[in-house]
Amino acid sequence: MTASRRAVLAGLAGGVLAGCAGPKSSTNIRVPASPAPSATATATPTTAAPATVAPSTPAPVTAPRVTRAEIVARYGHSVPHTWGFDAPGVTHALPATKRAIALTFDACGGPGGSGYDRALIGFLRRREIPATLFLNSRWIDANPAVFRRLAAEPLFEIANHGTRHRPLSVTGRSAYGIPGTRSAGEVYDEIAGNRAKLTHLLGTPPRFFRSGTAYCDDVAARIVGDLGERFVSFSVNGDAGATFTPEQVRATVSSAQAGSIVICHMNHPEGGTARGISAAVPRLLTAGHDFVRLSDGLH
Ligand SMILES: [Zn+2]
Repeated sequence: MTASRRAVLAGLAGGVLAGCAGPKSSTNIRVPASPAPSATATATPTTAAPATVAPSTPAPVTAPRVTRAEIVARYGHSVPHTWGFDAPGVTHALPATKRAIALTFDACGGPGGSGYDRALIGFLRRREIPATLFLNSRWIDANPAVFRRLAAEPLFEIANHGTRHRPLSVTGRSAYGIPGTRSAGEVYDEIAGNRAKLTHLLGTPPRFFRSGTAYCDDVAARIVGDLGERFVSFSVNGDAGATFTPEQVRATVSSAQAGSIVICHMNHPEGGTARGISAAVPRLLTAGHDFVRLSDGLH
């Protein structure tokens, strides 16, 4: 990693605005800062909420590679050394060998975070723009019919946005005021709960994970890998937790370059994301870029 990259990430980790529970204010659109993954992450634990989405056909459940007890034995005494958007093993960009850009949209769930941006998804469908959708368990439970439609469309790849939408910590660190997981066991639960749900619903396990707020420590990031998923962060913060105006979204997303991973949100239809994306995507296409799902851009 370059020094400048470290500086950017350090600045990001300092926190510009809020994640899921933060104030809806942000004016600095020059810096692709703060993931601000929208959605109010309440303190309401969703204790393994029963799936309200029934798969159309029975799908085999693929267990994680390792058990909770194994993760606890392996990392229960590990001391983390990092906290933020970056850690060894975290992916921020695609290989910049092509002009591809990955659009990713989080759906965080929970009170205030379980909306569905129909206009945004409609635009992607009409223009046939592939995207990766990071879905939280709570959002899936609140939107079973929408989930089924999205999951059936090859245009979209479904990824893991956690079970309770927690910053991924082994020591209980918080981000944007949202308390993180408190132990290696809770990190396991945060990943594996939604992984099991998605595996059941989709028939195959998700490949990619992004925590609530996108924060993690280095121990937690290793646990993601041990469970068979790849932690994907971002390089362009497209909508600051769906708090940006359409013009801010347009300007920020339009700044994406070859290899960028853009984070936006699909759970706040009242925000400026849909209009901003609808304005930015044609510009990027004209500039010679194309769009890929993460699976198509990361190997
Ligand atoms: Zn989120």
